[in-house]
Amino acid sequence: MSGHPFTRVVHGFVFVGLMSGVVMQGACSASTDTRLQPADTIIRGGTVYDGSAGAPVSADVVVSGDRIVYVGPEARMRYTAPAVVDASGMIVAPGFIDAHTHPDTYVRSKDAKERLNAPWLFQGVSTLMIGVDGGGTPDVADEAAWFGQHHMGTNLAPYVGFGPVRKKVLGMAARAPDPQELEGMQALVAKGMCEGAFGFSTGLFYAPQSFSKTDEVVALAREAAMRGGIYDSHQRDESSYTIGLVASTKEALAIGREAGLPVHIAHIKALGVDVHGESGELIALIDAARRAGQEVTADQYPWLASGTSLGAALLPRWAVAGGRPALLRRLADAATRDRIRSEVRENLRRRGGSESLLLTSSGQPWTGKTLQQVATTWQVDPVEAALRLVQENKRVQVASFNMDDADVKRLMQQPWVITSSDGNDGHPRQYATFPKKYAKYVRNTGTIDLGAFIHRSTGLSAETLGLEKRGYLREGYFADVLVFDPERFAPKADYTHPRVLSEGVVDLWVNGRKVIADGSLTGAAPGRFLLHTPTAGTCSP
Ligand SMILES: [Zn+2]
Repeated sequence: MSGHPFTRVVHGFVFVGLMSGVVMQGACSASTDTRLQPADTIIRGGTVYDGSAGAPVSADVVVSGDRIVYVGPEARMRYTAPAVVDASGMIVAPGFIDAHTHPDTYVRSKDAKERLNAPWLFQGVSTLMIGVDGGGTPDVADEAAWFGQHHMGTNLAPYVGFGPVRKKVLGMAARAPDPQELEGMQALVAKGMCEGAFGFSTGLFYAPQSFSKTDEVVALAREAAMRGGIYDSHQRDESSYTIGLVASTKEALAIGREAGLPVHIAHIKALGVDVHGESGELIALIDAARRAGQEVTADQYPWLASGTSLGAALLPRWAVAGGRPALLRRLADAATRDRIRSEVRENLRRRGGSESLLLTSSGQPWTGKTLQQVATTWQVDPVEAALRLVQENKRVQVASFNMDDADVKRLMQQPWVITSSDGNDGHPRQYATFPKKYAKYVRNTGTIDLGAFIHRSTGLSAETLGLEKRGYLREGYFADVLVFDPERFAPKADYTHPRVLSEGVVDLWVNGRKVIADGSLTGAAPGRFLLHTPTAGTCSP
């Protein structure tokens, strides 16, 4: 445990014998008050980025209980603590906030060790937004109760999602709701918001959410708007599948305007060869909306491949209406299969061809192969290989190389773009997003500077998402505190080895308790299930 070259933890650091003489009380300055206040931890002498966009300062951070009690130059004159961490040469920042991610296999595990959520802790992440892409349950209170019993390493903050809401009322039906069904869905969104969701999340790209029209989404988003939530959206089209990227972004903005709530665009990108270069248009559109007074933000992951399922990437949505049994029936019918084949061929072209899809589901003979390699092995064309994979497996995970680095950089430089991992199994972004952004885009290419990287992964994230008293190193804020080594903070996972922990996080506290000490897990699980407070008077008691 000890012997890390960069951090020294001194236990039993206590000043005694300073109580002689007169202790001044009242309005005197601290310099004349020799009484040292007890605290739990003093993090001394690091370069402190407090989560704002301001310049760093050399300062100490003092933690007591679950809060930060002091940030400034003279902790030793004011506080005594059993643990003092020497952070000289290190960066001290708020714990990172992952604005969009999928940690279910970890945080919902029966194994307490898995629930420490190590892939995120080793990236310096202390809080994760869940229920994204429209996936969040309306039963937020049940979730809170479950996580109250099953402790985790990181904080989690939930959205109520369109997917479970629509499925519960309409199943997989590809039609609009009738007035009663719409009311039923509104009641479910209201329930989620009243139980503490931070907003209404959608994934309009995915079935059955893709079957909705804009007005349906507006009606549901209003339920979040009146309760102080935000609208988070994996938009209808990030590419050229249906309405196109620009029209899809316009739809997201219109939903925010009409429902009256902030719009947050999830994992903003220009996906596929047809829309490469359209990031400039997106930026112009969003900047114009912001200038007109609309609240619009986005999050982004720093990778050139997205991660999704083979089915979602390639199958037309009409082919999956009615669910998997209906899909299998359609694939078994020769004429329908031909129609599906031609649309799959077109979708494959959009995504850059069969070489650009890497199969990442674990434990399969084809794991780690491209769709082209599988097709060659099976001696069929890539479209046929894709259909066979979809038929034989419930879910085939892919890394889809479909982004242009110029778009990624241009979007990253916008002051309204915060960091997210979109972390899911089989893609290195689950293990390495924050260090990847730091190593590639801060250190190597200078796309953004360190202050911007930290601000847009902490303070701005907390403000955007509505996470109260988080995201900043300030007195009274929750003590989610990260110490990382600027020389060593780096990703270790890559596309062929996606499950390797990142390096360079030296210490990490969540709610005042240390989860990483000297680069190793402590085993503590102090994460909390965070709940949003709905606007007063909008929920019946
Ligand atoms: Zn998504």
